[in-house]
Amino acid sequence: MYVRGIRALFAFPGYVVTKISMTTDLVQVNLRRDRRYGLKCPACGARMGQNRIKLQTARDLPLGTALMVLLVYEAVQGRCSACGAWATLHPPGIDDHARATRRLMEFVSRLARFLPLSHIEEVVPVDDATAFRWDLAVLQEKLPAPNLDDLRILLIDEKAVRKHHRYVTLVMNGITGELLYMAEGKKKESLQSFFDRLSPQQKASVVAVGMDRAGAYYEVVKAQLPHADIVFDKFHLIANYHAVIDQVRREEWRKASARDKDVIKGQRYNLFRNPSNRTSRQTQSLMNLLHMNRNLAMMYILKDAFKKLWDYQRLGPARKYLARWVRWAAVSGVEALRRFGRSLLKVKDEVLNFIRHPITIGSLEAFNATIERIIYRACGVRNLDYLFLKLRQESLEPDPPK
Ligand SMILES: [Zn+2]
Repeated sequence: MYVRGIRALFAFPGYVVTKISMTTDLVQVNLRRDRRYGLKCPACGARMGQNRIKLQTARDLPLGTALMVLLVYEAVQGRCSACGAWATLHPPGIDDHARATRRLMEFVSRLARFLPLSHIEEVVPVDDATAFRWDLAVLQEKLPAPNLDDLRILLIDEKAVRKHHRYVTLVMNGITGELLYMAEGKKKESLQSFFDRLSPQQKASVVAVGMDRAGAYYEVVKAQLPHADIVFDKFHLIANYHAVIDQVRREEWRKASARDKDVIKGQRYNLFRNPSNRTSRQTQSLMNLLHMNRNLAMMYILKDAFKKLWDYQRLGPARKYLARWVRWAAVSGVEALRRFGRSLLKVKDEVLNFIRHPITIGSLEAFNATIERIIYRACGVRNLDYLFLKLRQESLEPDPPK
């Protein structure tokens, strides 16, 4: 495009630039309505009579060194000759309510994808409350509604959004990674309202649902999608196992002598870590612990054995392996481990359903980090609608630059 001077940057249809005043910090652009064009009623499109003109200001994108760019324009109040409605007309692209151009609001929203709201002020002089309102308005307008057709695989999970027991329920499309739904709480009702939005055909399109076996979701899914397979996914089951390790570690610590307490202390993450993520010092202290404490050693060995279940590709051998693992747990001599094994047998179909539906846990796991990052950027959770839109944006446009 051929640009004739700086005026071309302020080409608002139906308006002409009358004056541009500049200092290094501030640009002021005066816009006058182009009288060659008639006024159109925003309600019915008929010709509108002009009643009065008032000058208004709106902020625009930074220009050069001037971070503050102010448009001063004629807002026209008028009355429609056809429908009788009163209206105030603003140049297209100016959000009268925000007193800013849409392009500035979109720029701030774009920054808000990568910066905490409170840091945006370093790039554009808007405070974090304004950045929040603009980002919310842009996302509400721009993000498409959740696609609830052809769902096939759903992932359902709860997330703590605040330290003290504030949870949300999330539903994700397990194939596309699109976040479809978020509601406060982790009870049945929190999930039920998702299914209330689905038509019978949309429900019928779901073949499998991945979730944690604890919690209230199982019953809701059983009732709403009786035809779908439920998969207790690897990520959650291993997290369940880690909770048992933690319980045993605390029990052993209570029983231990003062000297042994020292060896157990601080080993929590060492017990969970993959060998490749341990330093040699961490490996050494873990080995000392496993030599000293039989029950923790048992938990540790059976953890690796448990993970091997997901190497199986066929149902028969996987079922046999699970039964064998449960027997090991039964004879391990660790009561909590025995109970965990028995509880697995009760839900073995849901555990083994991964053979039929290789649900990728990666999308859920990766999303945890995204949620934490977004909560940090948004300076806590101001507004659950906002949190949902931010998470949806990330789920729809993956791989933001690190
Ligand atoms: Zn009208």
